[in-house]
Amino acid sequence: MLYDSQNIFAKILRREIPCTPIFENDHVLAFADIHPKAPVHILIIPKGAYINAHDFYAQASADEIVEFHKAIAVIIEKHDLQKTGFRLIANTGVNGGQEVPHYHVHLLGGKYLGPIISDPHA
Ligand code: AMP
Repeated sequence: MLYDSQNIFAKILRREIPCTPIFENDHVLAFADIHPKAPVHILIIPKGAYINAHDFYAQASADEIVEFHKAIAVIIEKHDLQKTGFRLIANTGVNGGQEVPHYHVHLLGGKYLGPIISDPHA
């Protein structure tokens, strides 16, 4: 599978469409989700062209991987989420329900988030 450079997060990285930025460094951009599912709903993305979690962890450099996770810790602390708890989600591929084919982690918090997944048969 090839990386689609026209995906919406690639456009955000190129500043072709706006976002509400939360954090940025050489390797990482974080911004508010446009349809928040919790009081805190932040998308954290690597700046490199990686399709999903597997692509990122298999192909990215050690620096990119470390910086990505260090950024997550900084953003968690910026919102005090380490005190109350939070959820990190990386939807991947068809079964994971991934909509945007640029690797991203959802950081959700600010309320009790319920069970880990909804029952698709409920
Ligand atoms: P996923 O299903 O994991 O691929 O999630 C994609 C997420 O991107 C969804 O939660 C969308 O609300 C969010 N999203 C889509 N377009 C934008 C945008 N332009 N700015 C911020 N978030 C977006």
